[in-house]
Amino acid sequence: MNIFIMGAPGSGKGTFSSRIKEEFNLNHISTGDIFRENISKGTELGLQAKAYSEKGLLVPDEITNNMVKDFLNNLADKKNGYLLDGYPRTLDQALAFEEMTKGTDLAVERILVMDVDNEVLTRRITGRRSCKKCGEIYNIYTKAPKVENVCDVCGSELSQRKDDNEESLKVRLGEYAKNTEPVIAYYEKLNMVSTIDASTRTIEEIWTEVKDVLNK
Ligand code: AMP
Repeated sequence: MNIFIMGAPGSGKGTFSSRIKEEFNLNHISTGDIFRENISKGTELGLQAKAYSEKGLLVPDEITNNMVKDFLNNLADKKNGYLLDGYPRTLDQALAFEEMTKGTDLAVERILVMDVDNEVLTRRITGRRSCKKCGEIYNIYTKAPKVENVCDVCGSELSQRKDDNEESLKVRLGEYAKNTEPVIAYYEKLNMVSTIDASTRTIEEIWTEVKDVLNK
């Protein structure tokens, strides 16, 4: 099974990606995670991405497409397919991906779109904190740690992503509306999109629907 998971910042892509990749045993990448890792390690790719990413802007297509090409070349177990999280985010990326996978068994089969109201997104993003050590995710409004700024699971200090502030979020939502919604419209015309209402239902309710859609 080859899947893209799409959705605005804070729509739950990360949370559901972890579950989907476990449940369906898929190869997974999050382009946002790869950029963050490279930025924190100060690699060449990180230096190229940093200025864009920290402002909430999209990293240029050529850099992003090359990174995804490497992922496709290195897929450890092509049999089980992939889950691409946070890619494609522009029409050019979608078309480049089509070109990269044309005539192979790596073409995308289903686009999962996590649909969340902007108001809910803002609360999720500005309240989001995560543990640098074990990756556990919190929200100061809805899932606060027992001790302020300390991870319940491993006791390490929590941190906030540099781009999780209101100013960057405005830019990220603008980028999403301008560049990524047309990608969804493109796949909708091809009848490949499953939209999941992920605004107010519980994680378990949403998860049941996601599994149903992917099991079909
Ligand atoms: P995310 O963790 O998915 O919210 O991504 C964080 C940031 O990484 C984005 O705001 C962009 O700067 C960059 N990024 C991630 N995926 C892409 C992509 N497919 N195209 C361009 N930039 C991306």
